[in-house]
Amino acid sequence: MNTHWHSDHVGGNALLQAMGAGIAAGAPDAQAVARRDAGCCVAEYLDQPVSPYTVDVPLDEGQILRLGDADWEVVHTPGHTPGHLALWLPEERLLVVGDALSDYDVGWVNLALDGPDAAAIALASLQRMADLAPRVLLPSHGPLPADPGAAFAAALRRAQRLVDDPAGAVWYGARRIFAFALMIRDGIPADEVEPYLHARAWLTDAARLLGRTPEALAAELVDTMLRSGAVVLRDGRLHAAAEHTPVTAESLRVPFPHAWPAAAPIR
Ligand SMILES: [Zn+2]
Repeated sequence: MNTHWHSDHVGGNALLQAMGAGIAAGAPDAQAVARRDAGCCVAEYLDQPVSPYTVDVPLDEGQILRLGDADWEVVHTPGHTPGHLALWLPEERLLVVGDALSDYDVGWVNLALDGPDAAAIALASLQRMADLAPRVLLPSHGPLPADPGAAFAAALRRAQRLVDDPAGAVWYGARRIFAFALMIRDGIPADEVEPYLHARAWLTDAARLLGRTPEALAAELVDTMLRSGAVVLRDGRLHAAAEHTPVTAESLRVPFPHAWPAAAPIR
């Protein structure tokens, strides 16, 4: 079950399907995947290749999804992506929150692609999840929060800051996207980083929202992340400093969704 279609969440779908698993995902995203829309998985926009897959079980808000012997309720929690879903197990008060929040963070929002209200939408989704008063939060990244209430309080404060400071939200997204690009490629040669960034749609959009040229934003992004220690120069390549495992080079050599082989229509 995909909470949303970013590459680090759906990149394993093709392999799982080849092994006989079914894939469940939000209905609008499922339909876009079936059509092979260019925007699928934000793969091309973010330059995060994803192996072709299809969705077997499209999910809607309020739907009950039986997994094993548990009935999970699908909760639409837009913000980090428009189609983002959480899963709620009322008897156990367990909430799977995807990338909406983690113990240390709140999901980045894409104001260029999803509109200026994306941060406010994310904030409303966080409030809705906090109102469920879960006993256990299951984020996609990082440890299980020891105190779900405290994790929500921190995430709500961070999301409010993204609402109040749209430029900060754009910077936050750009830093996350760039760090991810470095992670999946095992770094990028230092002299190729700026040309790489200049050619990215997300960077160009961020530059427009920040009133800068793409060249100026790329230089400032690299400079600030090197100075903060989020990016390090090692053996002539820029690397993300955060602990990570690079993906295999072959898994990046897959077509973007508009060139995926056609899918059977959704039942
Ligand atoms: Zn994500």
